[in-house]
Amino acid sequence: MWATVASVRVSSRGGGAVCTGCSSVGGMRPLSAAAPLPGLRPGSRASNAGGAERAGRCPGPRASNARARQVARGVRPPRIEYVELRALSRLAAPAVAALLALTTGCTGETVQGRPGASGLRDPYFPRAGNGGYQVDHYALDLDYDPADGQLHGTAVITARAEQALSSFNLDFSGLDVEGVTVQGEGARYNRTGTELTVRPAEDLEKGEVFRTRVDYSGKPKALADPDGAKEGWVTTKDGAVAVGEPVGSMTWFPGNHHPSDKAAYDITLTVPRGYEAVSNGELRSRTGDADGRTVFAWHSPEPMASYLATAAVGPYKVTTGRTASGIGLYSAVAPGEEAATTGPLARLPEMVDWSAGRFGPYPFATAGAIVVPAGTLTYALETQGRPVYSGAPEDEELVVHELAHQWFGDSVSPKSWKDIWLNEGFATYAEWLWAEDHGGPTAQQHFEAFLAGDTDVDKDAGVDWDAFPPASPPGPEEITAAPVYYRGAMVLHRIRQEVGDEKFFALVRGWAADHRHGNASTAEFTAYAEKRTGQDLKKVWDVWLYGKARPK
Ligand SMILES: [Zn+2]
Repeated sequence: MWATVASVRVSSRGGGAVCTGCSSVGGMRPLSAAAPLPGLRPGSRASNAGGAERAGRCPGPRASNARARQVARGVRPPRIEYVELRALSRLAAPAVAALLALTTGCTGETVQGRPGASGLRDPYFPRAGNGGYQVDHYALDLDYDPADGQLHGTAVITARAEQALSSFNLDFSGLDVEGVTVQGEGARYNRTGTELTVRPAEDLEKGEVFRTRVDYSGKPKALADPDGAKEGWVTTKDGAVAVGEPVGSMTWFPGNHHPSDKAAYDITLTVPRGYEAVSNGELRSRTGDADGRTVFAWHSPEPMASYLATAAVGPYKVTTGRTASGIGLYSAVAPGEEAATTGPLARLPEMVDWSAGRFGPYPFATAGAIVVPAGTLTYALETQGRPVYSGAPEDEELVVHELAHQWFGDSVSPKSWKDIWLNEGFATYAEWLWAEDHGGPTAQQHFEAFLAGDTDVDKDAGVDWDAFPPASPPGPEEITAAPVYYRGAMVLHRIRQEVGDEKFFALVRGWAADHRHGNASTAEFTAYAEKRTGQDLKKVWDVWLYGKARPK
């Protein structure tokens, strides 16, 4: 992330409003009796396409998965399960009990599952993410009409149970849940704050790969931070864009919204004719549907942290191309932001190849940019493969910064939000390296400028980069504050000073290669740096990374 308004980056953004929301979420409550009980359909067993079978147990009624593919095309088939639920609820309690006994009528082996945790105890966002499973793949079918702001969505989440589960949680904010199935069977669900608790008809076994489908709709809303910054589903004059750092993605799809759970994505966006719909990865197809709308199918095979997922809808001008080394480019620019095509962003192809020279092979199949109307956001975000810029970027450093995140943040993602200096320190240091290689100040000059507060060399050199050690932001509102960026970059430069250029750049490339498409923590980085360079760097860590005092 890189704030386009300097003061935002220098102070802090993110977290506040989200935290308030999170803290208001209570513990897991018993599932309400009023929670929908879809799927109780006597004698309506359909095939369980693609789902793992549960040997030795009674298969329950299965809903047809074929319906999944129809829904996001806008033709929303009747949800028979839920209609029948309402019919059920009119029966007297004993009758319901008898019917339940008949329909589930299974007295055989049962799995003794327990609830998955409702948060991953992230140091700053304890409610973010959920325990008990890891997601392999998200298939999001989203139908969005900018005219009325309505989103109809279907999320099919394929995950692996890491424990026997009686229930599990998804993070989801706003929007109405219309129904949940697990393995094609109707599941109970309950919502408390931003937690959507799902209780499958049958417990899930440890190691079981299971598919959860959530149908939902409504008018998605952005989350507002105290400083005015927005994240989540943000509307524009004639469209919308989704940005999710740190937890805004829960405003447009249910998921395991913590960077430690990365997954592949297929995001299909259906929009009115005349609109473009841009997301992460490669555009697999662009087709018209029967209602004259356009369906964009985006595919991201590489693991992605959910905060890096995006969807942008608007009357964008799309350009495609390739870098000299052959990396595909796909960029979308909002009307009025045409300066993007001649400004710093015009150097993106060159920057991609330069970055690959510095950091190792580009981690994804395509690169590019999404330029939303100026004023939409107060920052740019490194959404995977295709960063979002609010207005045409005016600084080369900004474009280099978001591009560097593709290696540091997107491919190598933080294990927790406490590790975010590994994102921002590297991305800031990339700015210094770009300047060094293109006739600007050297990284050493940048480092000295910050030590001295010399704003002639770098206009940001006067910020309070010494306010706290970058590996220990005092709270969630500081995870994007100045020390995370500038002192993070200074930590990297201190390593370079200690080990020399050859070892330093081998370390940088090795770090990106060895953790490619994974997650890593600060402790893993410091151990890796010492092992890779063969040098004791304790002094650097103690003073620059963890030390409270201003380093000299
Ligand atoms: Zn950044």
